[in-house]
Amino acid sequence: METHACPACGKLFLPRPQNPSQAYCSSKGCQQERRRRWQQAKRENDEDYRDNQKRAQQAWKTQNPSYWRDYRRLHPQYAEANRAQQLVRNYKNCSILIAKMDASTQHNSMHAGLYKMVILPGPLIAKKNAWMVFLSPCSRSNLMYVP
Ligand SMILES: [Zn+2]
Repeated sequence: METHACPACGKLFLPRPQNPSQAYCSSKGCQQERRRRWQQAKRENDEDYRDNQKRAQQAWKTQNPSYWRDYRRLHPQYAEANRAQQLVRNYKNCSILIAKMDASTQHNSMHAGLYKMVILPGPLIAKKNAWMVFLSPCSRSNLMYVP
């Protein structure tokens, strides 16, 4: 029997006799990758599949309304990482309000000192008890002391 190269891990393997056209090796990770790629292709190309997935997810969500709230409570590291990723997504969606990611250099990077904090308008993030602020360095001539 002829060996095949697994498209996931690149290793050579012998297809199982029951499935001579086996494209991926039998390792768990490669089988997961095969399934992931198949699902991705189905989502991109099969409208019925997408519709069925959407209805199944909505039905599951209706039957398990507190699942994600409970999951976040039991997995605070996950919740914190998700919040950080959401902040990045929000920043990317508000490109007018932020500097370019590559704009900071050694020359203009922020250092300890005096800064002006301005609360940005609008609900930029979902949390109601968090503020989005813009910090800009101040020179002493801009300072005004109000006792
Ligand atoms: Zn493999």
